[in-house]
Amino acid sequence: MDLRKYIDGEISRSEALELTKLKGARLMELLAVANEVREKYCGNEIALCTITNAKSGRCEEDCKFCAQSAHYNTDIESYGLKDDDTLKREYKMSKEFGAGKFGVVTSGRSIKKGSQEFERIKNFIREASESGEGVDLCASIGLLSYDEIMELKEVGLTRIHNNLQTSIVSYEKIVATTHRVEDRIETIKNAIKAGVNVCSGGIIGMGESWEDRIDMAFTLKELGVDSIPLNILNPIPGTPHGDREKLSADEILKTIAIYRIINKDKIIKIAAGRETILKDFMGMAFMSGGNGMLVGGYLTVRGRSVEEDLKFVDNIKKMWEK
Ligand code: SF4
Repeated sequence: MDLRKYIDGEISRSEALELTKLKGARLMELLAVANEVREKYCGNEIALCTITNAKSGRCEEDCKFCAQSAHYNTDIESYGLKDDDTLKREYKMSKEFGAGKFGVVTSGRSIKKGSQEFERIKNFIREASESGEGVDLCASIGLLSYDEIMELKEVGLTRIHNNLQTSIVSYEKIVATTHRVEDRIETIKNAIKAGVNVCSGGIIGMGESWEDRIDMAFTLKELGVDSIPLNILNPIPGTPHGDREKLSADEILKTIAIYRIINKDKIIKIAAGRETILKDFMGMAFMSGGNGMLVGGYLTVRGRSVEEDLKFVDNIKKMWEK
C-alpha cells in the first residue's frame, strides 16, 4: 500500500479501515505521512483553547463516560453556573495562557433561551467580546436551536462545541440513552446554518470498534466541522466505563493519524487524556497529525501547568520548523 498517495489524495472508508491494520515500521510511516498532511494543509501553528467548567455535575443525561452525570456515583465537585466576575477573570487569564479560544462549558442537556442561565451566559459573552482581549468565545452548553445560536452569535459568540462522541450507529450502546446522536447533529447543523464555527469530535477508548472511529471521522467530514477534539477515555470510577482498560499509545497515535488523513485541513485537537494516557508519547501526537490542544486543565481533571504546556508547544513548533 502506497501511503504517500494520501498526502494529496482522498481516502475511502474501506482504505481507512486498511490503515488500522498497520504495525511496526509501516505504522511509523503512517504517522510520518499524517504529519506531512498536517504541514501541507494546516501549516505550523498549534491552536490553543482554554475551557471553564462553568456549571458542574447533577446532569440529567446518562453519558456513560461522564463524571458529571447524576446517574452515577462519582467523586466530583458539583456547582451551579459560576458568577460573572469569575467567568470574566478566567476569560482574561486565557489570554495569558496564549489561548485563541475560550470555551464556556456547562453540564446538562441544554441551557434554554429565556432562562436566567442563558441570559447570564449571553451577558458574559457580550461583555467578554467587547472587552478587547481578543480571545474568541465558544459555548459548549448542550443542545441548541438555530435561534438560540443566533442570539449568542449576535453578542459575540464565534464557535459552538458539541461532540458527536462516537459513530452514529453505536451512540446508544456506548454513549447515552437519554438523548439521541441526532439531537447533537441537529445542534451542529444549526450552528453551521447560523454561520458559527463548529468544534466537534469524540472520545476513544469506550470499547468502540475501528469501524466506529472511522465512521465518526467521516461523519465529521461530511458535516463540515472546523475543529475535531479527540479525547482519550480516562476511565472514571463509578461510571459504566470505569473499569475499561486504557488505550495503548500505538492505537491512539494511529487514530490521530487516520483522522488527519481523512480530515486534512481541520484542527485535530488532542484533548483529555493527553497527559494522563499518552504520557511519554504526548509529543508523538503532534508528530502524527495533531495540531491543537487545551491548556489550563479539563472539566473535572486538572492538566499540567500552563508553563509546562507552553514550553511543550514551543518545542513542538521548533521540531516542525526544522
Ligand atoms: S457529557 Fe454533558 S450531557 Fe453528558 S452527562 Fe456529562 S455533562 Fe451531562
